[in-house]
Amino acid sequence: MTQEAIAILKENELKITQNRLDVLAIFLGSEKAFSLLDLEKILDEKHDRSSIFRSLQTYTEKGILEKFCNASGTSIYVFNHHKPDCNGKSHFKCKDCDNVVSLPNLPIEYLQLLGKNKMETMNLLIEGTCENCQNKNPNTL
Ligand SMILES: [Zn+2]
Repeated sequence: MTQEAIAILKENELKITQNRLDVLAIFLGSEKAFSLLDLEKILDEKHDRSSIFRSLQTYTEKGILEKFCNASGTSIYVFNHHKPDCNGKSHFKCKDCDNVVSLPNLPIEYLQLLGKNKMETMNLLIEGTCENCQNKNPNTL
């Protein structure tokens, strides 16, 4: 995981720091979405909140992570598996296990409906219950 994290930092011309490596390794080791609070808990005082937050900001600016707002208004971050030039980044996130699935690009015909409106960010998050969690808890259906 660390080797992969180092490679990503180098690729993006970012200075390698322990904080950046630790934060990125969490995303590389999981398919889940994480909030700042989740990361603080996982890193358990190894890094303070503001350094974790700065790393998240840097990664979001570089397009390494994508930032979303979940249904409760909390910022959550997911690793960006999309190619940089793709049309609209959409994901499905399970609200029970926090797993995230990257969805295919949105059709160009759909984006054309924007007309002359200039798009700056386009992170679409669909939340719900994944197949696994539905099978585990049939009552929540
Ligand atoms: Zn789930």
